Amino acid sequence: MYNLEQFKKDLAFFEIDLSEKQIDQFMIYYELLVEWNSFMNLTAITEFDEVMKKHFIDSLSLVKAYERIRNDEIEVIDIGTGAGFPGIPLKIAFPQIKITLLDSLQKRIKFLGEVTERLELRNIEFIHGRAEDFAKQNGKREKFDLCVSRAVANLSTLSELCLPYVKVGGDFISYKSEKIAEEAAVAEYAIKLLGGRIKEQKDFILPDSDIYRNLFIIEKVRNTPVRFPRKAGTPAKEPLSK
Ligand code: SAM
Repeated sequence: MYNLEQFKKDLAFFEIDLSEKQIDQFMIYYELLVEWNSFMNLTAITEFDEVMKKHFIDSLSLVKAYERIRNDEIEVIDIGTGAGFPGIPLKIAFPQIKITLLDSLQKRIKFLGEVTERLELRNIEFIHGRAEDFAKQNGKREKFDLCVSRAVANLSTLSELCLPYVKVGGDFISYKSEKIAEEAAVAEYAIKLLGGRIKEQKDFILPDSDIYRNLFIIEKVRNTPVRFPRKAGTPAKEPLSK
């Protein structure tokens, strides 16, 4: 049996109440992650307490920056979700959201399909492909209330990958670290060009840890010009700059 004391304490820190069923879903997700990680590369972290803190609690810390995640039936997209972070923990804890998980690696999408089936999650969609390509599609462009992304690219590149998906009035929240000041200064031009406006940052240490987290919030204030994103690979190779 797992010792859930710290996990529950961390959930309480963020004022997140989970039912027994939701706690079970997190445990099954943990087990699937470790099992599939033995034959495919999903995560460098597999020890129980570390996964709880660095993947699950970290993903859920979004509540610090975005209260609406708790109760609203919003449409969310997670760009470069990998093994499902932060998207799957958000979907487990806040099942009323509709979520789309996008990643360019097919095997990770396959893993997420299995997780979804085993956890019996509803209103969840997967996209296998590059963020640059799907943002051109009518059904996906400027459709989401919220775009989230963790550990995918620097803020300039990420803004080009993410802002095209966000509807005007919606938000893009990037899970960032200590390097944020540097990244933000470089990304300012790109954010404006892509129709965004820097709204605020929430920074904090994850409870009972020394893990610093900065949630960087960008508001979508204008439509993204149709020429963005540029073709797949270009946002990373040549981040927008003055
Ligand atoms: N977000 C997860 C997390 O925090 O654990 C995964 C982070 S992993 C370092 C980066 C992921 O982004 C990989 O799964 C990769 O396939 C995906 N990725 C990178 N560039 C992408 C792009 N342009 N379009 C779609 N997925 C991309």
